[in-house]
Amino acid sequence: MNRSRRRLTCAAALVLIGWLPGCSSPRAQPAPASPQQPAPSVPPITIDSTEEQIRQAVGTARFGRKLTPTAWPNGARVAVCVTFDVDNELLQRANPLPVPLSVGEYGATTAVPRILDLLDRQQVPATFFMPAMGIMLHPEMLSSILARQRHEVGVHGWIHEFWPGIGDAAKEERMLAKDIDYLTKATGRRPVGVRAPSSGFSPQTFDLIRKAGFLYDSSLLAADEPYEIVSNGQPSGVIELPIAEVSNDYVYYGETANGAMPSPDAVFQIYKAEFDLAYQERTMFILTQHPHVGGRRSRIVNLDRLITYIKSKPGVWFATMEQVANFVKQQPRS
Ligand SMILES: [Zn+2]
Repeated sequence: MNRSRRRLTCAAALVLIGWLPGCSSPRAQPAPASPQQPAPSVPPITIDSTEEQIRQAVGTARFGRKLTPTAWPNGARVAVCVTFDVDNELLQRANPLPVPLSVGEYGATTAVPRILDLLDRQQVPATFFMPAMGIMLHPEMLSSILARQRHEVGVHGWIHEFWPGIGDAAKEERMLAKDIDYLTKATGRRPVGVRAPSSGFSPQTFDLIRKAGFLYDSSLLAADEPYEIVSNGQPSGVIELPIAEVSNDYVYYGETANGAMPSPDAVFQIYKAEFDLAYQERTMFILTQHPHVGGRRSRIVNLDRLITYIKSKPGVWFATMEQVANFVKQQPRS
């Protein structure tokens, strides 16, 4: 490298150094906080485990009878639920500094209003899972959702805490009661559905959900269609409307574009293929989006495109999760 080239390289490096601290890219920030805390230790399944120990280890919340009806309302062949986990700033609990917080704040300032406009235009209902303290930070977000009179609000923790990390069944029970109370007061009605923050079920969580009287849960991933949760061998009466990582925006984009899946068009193709098979199988399609992630400009146009595509098919029932759960609950036991 000659001297003049070296000078140029140094200048470029200085510009870069000067630029990086002010860069809003999350790459310039400390590693994004994982919403998860260490889970309490549960006995692992090992080569020495007995059959009974293995049965017990997997038995807390299992796939039970399928609840897909022979026909959806009005003869529809598929049910579609558009759902949002409104996590916003609360994914930055471990690192609540202004810049990473602002990445989540975007969900309230810009993405939720944009999503609500899209849902209005498409005349589609949705289910919003909202941490209580997210509502406290942005009460206008909740009132604009409720003003549409078409959407459902479900439980998603207090501060988006990771339930297995609480490590105390009584405290976990009190937290869940607090979540339910807060949403009941804020929305004017008791929530009937729950989605565990960061898909975190402790060994007690399912029992607490059942005891709290929820109509449905939407945290598990054991099937592509509604089912009744079986707990320790017993049908629980709680309906599972299962999510799928493949139909979640977060797995592709992370907090913001991280290079793992830079093309919203590719993500659209995956969602479309997921819907197409649900349509063929006459079951249901659940989409899980995070406003501050999927509500970005280049991504939400593809959500609009996806809904337009789904609506182009005959026999689609767009519904809230509560509507789907109430409908499948009426199905006779086979
Ligand atoms: Zn969440």
